[in-house]
Amino acid sequence: MLRVMKAVLVLGISIGSLAAAQAQAQDAPKREIVRISGDLYRFQNKFHYSVFLVTPEGVIVTDPIDAAAARWLKSEIAGRFGKPIRYLVYSHDHVDHSSGGEVFAADGAIVIAHENAKRTILGEKRPTAVPQITFKKRMTLELGGKTVELRYLGKNHSDNMIVMRFPEERTLFAVDFIPVKTVAYRDFSDAYLPEWIESLARVERMDFDILAPGHGQLGTKADVTAFRDYMSDLTGQVLEQARKGKSLEETKAAVDLSKYSDWAQFEAWSPLNIDGAYQRIQLNRRGN
Ligand SMILES: [Zn+2]
Repeated sequence: MLRVMKAVLVLGISIGSLAAAQAQAQDAPKREIVRISGDLYRFQNKFHYSVFLVTPEGVIVTDPIDAAAARWLKSEIAGRFGKPIRYLVYSHDHVDHSSGGEVFAADGAIVIAHENAKRTILGEKRPTAVPQITFKKRMTLELGGKTVELRYLGKNHSDNMIVMRFPEERTLFAVDFIPVKTVAYRDFSDAYLPEWIESLARVERMDFDILAPGHGQLGTKADVTAFRDYMSDLTGQVLEQARKGKSLEETKAAVDLSKYSDWAQFEAWSPLNIDGAYQRIQLNRRGN
């Protein structure tokens, strides 16, 4: 009887742990590595993406996303390419992209970001490695005969966003300020609207074919133009209503963005985009 009890107990435990393992597998974020072009790869962690470049002398990684994602990426890179990670570059300071940098820094990767990103990472105590090298406008990173161009294009979705251009792969990695066939994220917290449109125009003048965003599908330069049109349409129409003295509700009723209705998140986020644009435009009009 005791033996039977024990067997039942063991079975119970193993079923329990199997269920736990299955639940864990379902909860685990989707992680994947896909080659974009040449030696440039795209790393996915659920809804977040970054890129990395493999060279004969080591690997340049970008946004770590979070510590668990970074640990997974580090072991995948070691297993697939057997090269050390030499540089880590942050697109901007926001916690959902920059977290986990210490995973790469602990192995000697040199951490690079815009100078304003370092200030915010320190000030806000972001859970990541503090940048060791910063720059203001432009920096060229060379490793193993390959080049990455880092550019600050002005304020947009934050005051410290940089883009990373991989000339051989004809790819631009740009996070959070150029969604592809998707409206802007919610209500523009931490955003600079007129400068955002200017930085999109600067991206259009850069030399690349493939746009690798921090969320969603890959795009092309045409998607940058389309998103600049959206932002111009949105802010232009909201400003016109605000100047007529219209309330937020009246503005929401008057602004017509229906030509973008096939974009992702249109129903959920475009009213929030109007909301955020209205608040920011009113602040600007008061001279704040
Ligand atoms: Zn962000």
